[in-house]
Amino acid sequence: MKKGRGVFMKRLLAAFSVLLLLLSLFSFGSCSEQTVTKSVFAMNTYCTVTVPAKNADAADEIIRRVNALEALLSVSREGSDIYRLNYSDGEQTPIDNETALLLKRALELNSLLPAFDFSLFRLSLLWGFFDTPSVPDDADIKSALSHCGTDKLTVGDGFASLSGGAMVDLGAIAKGYAADEASKILLSHGVERALLNFGGNVFVLGTKQSGADYKVGIKKPYTEEILATLTGKDLFYVTSGSYERYFTEGGKNYCHIIDPKTGYPAESGLYSVTVVCEDGTLADVLSTAFFIMGAEASLDFINETHLCEAVFVTCGNGVIITDGLKDRFTLLSSDYALKD
Ligand code: FAD
Ligand code: MG
Repeated sequence: MKKGRGVFMKRLLAAFSVLLLLLSLFSFGSCSEQTVTKSVFAMNTYCTVTVPAKNADAADEIIRRVNALEALLSVSREGSDIYRLNYSDGEQTPIDNETALLLKRALELNSLLPAFDFSLFRLSLLWGFFDTPSVPDDADIKSALSHCGTDKLTVGDGFASLSGGAMVDLGAIAKGYAADEASKILLSHGVERALLNFGGNVFVLGTKQSGADYKVGIKKPYTEEILATLTGKDLFYVTSGSYERYFTEGGKNYCHIIDPKTGYPAESGLYSVTVVCEDGTLADVLSTAFFIMGAEASLDFINETHLCEAVFVTCGNGVIITDGLKDRFTLLSSDYALKD
């Protein structure tokens, strides 16, 4: 039976409540230190910041920054830079320098990892991921795919243009960029410890007051349980998964991450990928690209570049972790087995 928007949105909100639940693992672990948590619904997710109460002004500044970034980068908000660019009929569009810089970074990362293709918005619309999802006709998918391609984007200082009917969507990079910007605000305020969760883009600053590490949970696919935990300070932990935004048609699940080679939702044998690294923007892009590439090609990439550590949760109930995580990873579910 086809699932309509209601079910899709319900699943979406359930996924976010789980992510918030994970945040509750982040006990500040101290009786003496008061904390404050600020949250905003932006970029179609909950963005949450937890800091010591004395740093509440840093949290307020982060919330303002996230709102400002959404106003620039949203695909669906009329008047945003990305919205105006997408509906400009190929005309040169004036955009903020920050949007131009992020588009340039996205182009660079697309060259490094072609699976990360932020020019697929026309396909996301066709699949209905921003409204009522359903499986389109194959001919329509092929037609939409022919309009996509990052080579159709030109970015200059303060302007951009799109040719050939392409449309861009920074949904796989902007939350990571926002988390990077938030981490800079924390450092500029001299904050010692903090936890951010921007819809699955987590940043851990410092340790608990006791000196112990915070634990970051990875969700067990399609459940409300925690599959595993990771530890490590001053790092971004970003997860892309098939169980967060998806719909079911004809007994098959279709997720929101599209393989640019086919125009269909990615099917690489993974339930999720969690990327751990010091760069939030890169971590966001890597997790999306790895989800499409699958574990084997992603591990080859990591072994060559050493850009990050990662956890792959496979559809065969296996878990693969990179060497750098061996002492920082704890598997909590006996339904899954750690693989070499
Ligand atoms: P990620 O893996 O990080 O990203 C997947 C998302 O990237 C997909 O949902 C799609 O948007 C895009 N994408 C799909 N395939 C690829 C690919 N191969 N390469 C690159 N990107 C791909 N959602 C709404 O429904 N309504 C909104 O109004 C809305 N506004 C947003 C505004 C902003 C500024 C941002 C950052 C996001 C917004 N979103 C909105 C959500 C967004 O479209 C994505 O669904 C979301 O960012 C997915 O994040 P993720 O961490 O689950 O997955
Ligand atoms: Mg991403």
